[in-house]
Amino acid sequence: MGFCDHNSVGADTEYCPACGKRKVRTSRDVRRALRWKAYVLVAGLPGLLAACRFYRPLDANWVYFSGLGLFFAPVVLQVFSASRKRDVQHVRFLARAFLYCAILLLVLDATIAANGSLDRSNMTERRSTVVRKYISTGRWSTGYHVVVRSWRAGRITETLDVTRDIYRQTSIGGQVSADLHYGFLGLERYEGVKPL
Ligand SMILES: [Zn+2]
Repeated sequence: MGFCDHNSVGADTEYCPACGKRKVRTSRDVRRALRWKAYVLVAGLPGLLAACRFYRPLDANWVYFSGLGLFFAPVVLQVFSASRKRDVQHVRFLARAFLYCAILLLVLDATIAANGSLDRSNMTERRSTVVRKYISTGRWSTGYHVVVRSWRAGRITETLDVTRDIYRQTSIGGQVSADLHYGFLGLERYEGVKPL
């Protein structure tokens, strides 16, 4: 039994005259009404991390920022709305915000996955010098990153995510090679980073 997100005004009935579902009356009802959309939104984030880990885009930052923005925007709206006791009144708007952000996040996941999985472009080997390396630790995973001099115009460095073994084998000032692909959707991606 779902909750109505119309929050239709009018007669004080328990059920919505438009869709027949139970009307939202409390913040708890709002959270219940948003539950499935929130689950999809929550699934979109690890989906994005998995797609990026599998088909590494060279310009990963805008992908991560977009993903986090789409994830947090509706959550922030709901918390803000609830803090001002407007969430019951705004349930329809909140439901749309959760749905559209969840869809856009899944589209972003699919874009990264399609860019890699459908990519039939030739591989170009790039060699570059390591200028920095660092480890990032998150709650669920540890990332190993090697920063190299960029081969692209207008850019100084490129950050390549590597495995722990490759990370250990690289040294600052040393050379690494990476296999670059154009990407099915034109998002350049790399694989096979190894020290020379
Ligand atoms: Zn309804």
